[in-house]
Amino acid sequence: MAAVDLLVTGGRLVTPDGVRTGDIAVSGGRIVPGGEALHVLDAKGAYVLPGLIDSHVHFRTPGLTYKEDWAHGSRAAVVGGVTTVMDMPNTVPPTLSPEAVLAKAAMIDGTSLVDYAFHVGADPQRPELLADLDPGVAVSAKVFMAGHHTAPTVVRDEAQLDKVFAAAAAGGVRLVLHAEDEAVFALLDRWRGTPERHRDYERYRPRTGPIAAVAQVLRLVERHGTAAHVLHLSTAEEADLVTAARFAGLPVTFEVTGHHLSFTDADTRRLGARTRLAPAIRQRADQDRLWEAVWRGEVSTLGSDHAPHTIEEKCRPVPDAPPGLPGVQELAVAVWTGMRERLPDESPDVAIARLVRYLAEQPAALFGLRGKGRLEIGADADLTVFEPGGRHMLSARDVRAKCGWSAYEGWTMAGRVRTTIRAGQVVWDADTGTFGAPTGRWVRR
Ligand SMILES: [Zn+2]
Repeated sequence: MAAVDLLVTGGRLVTPDGVRTGDIAVSGGRIVPGGEALHVLDAKGAYVLPGLIDSHVHFRTPGLTYKEDWAHGSRAAVVGGVTTVMDMPNTVPPTLSPEAVLAKAAMIDGTSLVDYAFHVGADPQRPELLADLDPGVAVSAKVFMAGHHTAPTVVRDEAQLDKVFAAAAAGGVRLVLHAEDEAVFALLDRWRGTPERHRDYERYRPRTGPIAAVAQVLRLVERHGTAAHVLHLSTAEEADLVTAARFAGLPVTFEVTGHHLSFTDADTRRLGARTRLAPAIRQRADQDRLWEAVWRGEVSTLGSDHAPHTIEEKCRPVPDAPPGLPGVQELAVAVWTGMRERLPDESPDVAIARLVRYLAEQPAALFGLRGKGRLEIGADADLTVFEPGGRHMLSARDVRAKCGWSAYEGWTMAGRVRTTIRAGQVVWDADTGTFGAPTGRWVRR
């Protein structure tokens, strides 16, 4: 038998064919059939998952590295069991062209513990770029229909959006959308004034904004046939609209974030600026509908929308405080905790397979990352060794994001990531608290 680099033994393997106890052999950074091992890692009592994929992070390079960078962001990722991230374009300068993506990739090289891919920004001044976008450069094009502090170039009016959707359809480019209608917010603010207090924040970005924007997205998809993935759904109505449109045959999918599954307006009152987000955190009934989308398989991906800001920035008055929170570290364990609380009698094997579908298999398939998202022979040896039980309190000193705070501080998580492996190398070991080398690479389609 050929010698292999590493054997991960005795874990519950979450494979495309089901969950079973077994070993995973690794050689040359890939999963191989088996053999004598130079190193053995005992995974008894834990699940072995394909390395998790967070298709929605803002790691802030270039230009905003005072609040996050790849050294910190990728550490937060591996502590959370994530081995591949897809980075958003709203940096300074923004990545609105293939050249800008290449420049960003060069800056990241040698600094990341995880593999990465990029969403290029749709440029309203040059929508035609999407018609011949090299699929090796970006996995999708991000459209900001509403602006916040770090948004690069917001595509605001219907004529601009129409050009973007047409060019993306021509180029076979998937759009990922921040769907909120700013005109709706402005209209309401002019009538009743801008809320000053963080506890009134939901009124500042009310549900009518995203609902109106999603309806507009669906019209544009119907007109052009553009593949569209709507990010961070926050309301029940959006989930109904996108699901109905997909049922009617439109190429639309959606993402739900860890924080919209974890918090409601009751938490916003307690957490204030920390859960000031765009789209806002909504009511319990909306959260219930998003969980329903998880149980029914209506959602396609779970994302963190990891978007750190300094505490000083978050504590500004409402109109000046940037939306966003760090979340790549908390995503998988927070969703797992929610799953176990909401359906405590469900078989853990069934629950973990669902988590893997939304956090590995489907993001890899949707964005075309070969060798990722599935535990099978020939795949990249990205592995997350996950303990499903225990009670693990998250405190401020556990936070790896550069901003140094988490909205989940004080949460007791119902599981933890024991070991994270990228390309056959241990990049995080929870028992010793040690990280591996920053040899993450750009995953190009
Ligand atoms: Zn985002």
